[in-house]
Amino acid sequence: MIYDNHGRPITYLRLAVTDRCNLRCFYCMPAEGIRYLPKRELLTYEEMLQMVRLMAAMGVSKVRITGGEPFVRKDLMYFLRQLSQIKGIEDINITTNGVLTTDYVAELKQLGVRSVNLSLDTFDRERFKEITRRDEFEKVKACFDLLIAHEVHTKINAVVMEGKNTDDIIPLAELTRDYPVDVRFIEEMPFNGEGSHYPVLVWTHRKILEKLSGRYPDIQKVKDAAHSTSYNYHIPGHQGNVGIIAAFSRTFCGSCNRIRVTAQGTLKTCLYDEGVLDIRKLMRSGASDHEIQDALKKAFGNRAKDGFEAEKSRQASHPASESMSTIGG
Ligand code: SAM
Ligand code: SF4
Repeated sequence: MIYDNHGRPITYLRLAVTDRCNLRCFYCMPAEGIRYLPKRELLTYEEMLQMVRLMAAMGVSKVRITGGEPFVRKDLMYFLRQLSQIKGIEDINITTNGVLTTDYVAELKQLGVRSVNLSLDTFDRERFKEITRRDEFEKVKACFDLLIAHEVHTKINAVVMEGKNTDDIIPLAELTRDYPVDVRFIEEMPFNGEGSHYPVLVWTHRKILEKLSGRYPDIQKVKDAAHSTSYNYHIPGHQGNVGIIAAFSRTFCGSCNRIRVTAQGTLKTCLYDEGVLDIRKLMRSGASDHEIQDALKKAFGNRAKDGFEAEKSRQASHPASESMSTIGG
């Protein structure tokens, strides 16, 4: 097990396998999209697998595959099969928008993927189209239905956006009544390729909880798992839980066990930092496994205390505004 300079274990890697996406979510990128990296700048699957092997030997046991949209990358299932063979990796999870995922649900289940986070900010087709700028709701709904039918542990991720989907909070929470799913409401962050949409964030974790408590006065706090970023609640009589992720307020940093690697192989030890190590460059310059692990150790030993400190460490010319699609949310 490896610990950072604040005594937090590093056990969880969030790996972006691509920066490309088939949706254009309002909170993630501008309508015209973002400039994608040339393909040669993305880590190859072999490079990713080697990197995960090295990290697993250092104590990383959980990997979340994200992006961009992971299923846009060719041969993702090949990569997942290889990943599931790596010694020490016990827990593989995927975050997806669900548009292309349906064909793979059965195999994901078979591979032992622990959970699928499906991004779905509304159950209303028109609103979905407005938020994602694509008319793909039916495919995402089909993916949801299939995940439930295959009993894949499913979490719905919903970003709460002022003026866009706050009327969806209760209908989304109602899903936990009818289905064994967890619905997590996420504070909107400025990672949309342009910068914050608001002078001050109104829909904070507190306001989201107020809305839920107003509708469900007997909502109960449940014990959160270690290193959880969501505050979790149970509504009596419902099958699943609801959670709130204070992604902008950053209230969970004290127990953060996660690191990120972007599609181009940049290590981020905090979502809000600018990138602290170019793993791709190291790998492509012929560094030995030992040298790569040493560089990783050094980066883990120099981790920001929290997201505010990490944000402060950015250069003034690079405020926290890049698209989440390039970071790997
Ligand atoms: N394309 C996949 C998807 O949408 O599920 C995976 C990548 S996406 C960047 C990962 C997660 O980041 C999604 O659940 C999305 O809702 C969340 N996200 C993206 N931009 C965000 C923002 N500005 N604030 C908060 N969450 C955001
Ligand atoms: Fe694509 Fe996911 Fe970003 Fe939406 S949130 S634009 S689906 S990467």
